[in-house]
Amino acid sequence: MTQRHPDKDHYHGFEQGPIRPPSEAGSLLIRVTRNCPWNRCTFCPVYKGARFSVRPESHVIDDIDAVHRHVVTLKKLADGSGSILRQDVSELMQCLSPQEQQAFGAALNWYAGGMTAIFLQDANSLVVKPDQLIRILRHIRSRFPWVSRITSYARSHTIARISDDNLKQMREAGLNRIHIGLESGSDAVLSRVRKGVDKRTQIKAGQKVKKAGMELSEYVMPGLGGKELSREHAIETADALNHINPDFIRLRTLAIPGGIPLAEDQRTGRFIKLNDLEMVREIRLFIDSLDGITSMIVSDHILNLFEEVQGRLPDAKPHILAVLDRFLSLSDQDQCRFQVGRRLGIFTRLIDMNSPKRRAKVDAFCAQHGITPGNVDVMIDEMMKRFI
Ligand code: SF4
Repeated sequence: MTQRHPDKDHYHGFEQGPIRPPSEAGSLLIRVTRNCPWNRCTFCPVYKGARFSVRPESHVIDDIDAVHRHVVTLKKLADGSGSILRQDVSELMQCLSPQEQQAFGAALNWYAGGMTAIFLQDANSLVVKPDQLIRILRHIRSRFPWVSRITSYARSHTIARISDDNLKQMREAGLNRIHIGLESGSDAVLSRVRKGVDKRTQIKAGQKVKKAGMELSEYVMPGLGGKELSREHAIETADALNHINPDFIRLRTLAIPGGIPLAEDQRTGRFIKLNDLEMVREIRLFIDSLDGITSMIVSDHILNLFEEVQGRLPDAKPHILAVLDRFLSLSDQDQCRFQVGRRLGIFTRLIDMNSPKRRAKVDAFCAQHGITPGNVDVMIDEMMKRFI
């Protein structure tokens, strides 16, 4: 159920939510809602304890107008090549109220990034009444007509209930990419992690987004089934995606920070987490089970062990499987070395292990912290918590 914020009549200035997809790093973030209207997924730490609210439409419009004002100013300050003197920026900043500085900072970052895309925050902007969202989208387009991409996170459960006609109108108003946290296609996994949606609805939602002419990014969470449901998670998730054929399949490996319900399940033994080796086997089965689709596989999250599990299906499949097989065929020592080196940012690809200098750095770190093939999984779990 949606709720108005207690301060609904008072505008406190430009707002930004806590997260955006990695692919929206250069996008302007426009906060349409606060937090997550569902907020029950056991693996998700992002909005726990934070109450959901829809921001008043006039506040969102004020945010858009504030950024627009600053973009106009920045364009005036720019020289012929688009560059702006640092000193001009500092002087301008000093004249602004703290409220205005937030919007100015967002405008400045966006300007520096080329101003091509906008991401609507927070977790599920499509929960807003379609007419309201369409008015916001039209206002964005009127202020920033050059923008080529407007995107949002959305829950499958929400999309499945929006009419095709309304989705088409959103598309026409400029919303042209949706990011869905599919996580899994297995009903058993979805139910255990309290995702609040089943496989059939996930497929329906994905197909509706595509039918509306929007690009679709589906996020998959390797490891979410734990040891018990790993195989089912891989096969059922691939099957759901084979029915959807999204434009992007993005991998974001499970990590379990303290304080979330899944951490309690892990503590009591109800959930047994996969180690990296088991995770690689699961991803291999998942990739191998993708069939008859042309999606782009993307591994752009720091939690993932492989950056090179990447490419457009079906052509990239043999390459991706070969990367995974190469890792599985390494000695215990080299697997441990890669696991650690990747999480330290010293290795990004398996081939990086051929560099004696990089290997030496990783070996020195392992020696200093007592990391061996026997304890690497525990150490990696600790390291990954810091990335969340
Ligand atoms: S729907 Fe998304 S943001 Fe909300 S709790 Fe689940 S994973 Fe987190």
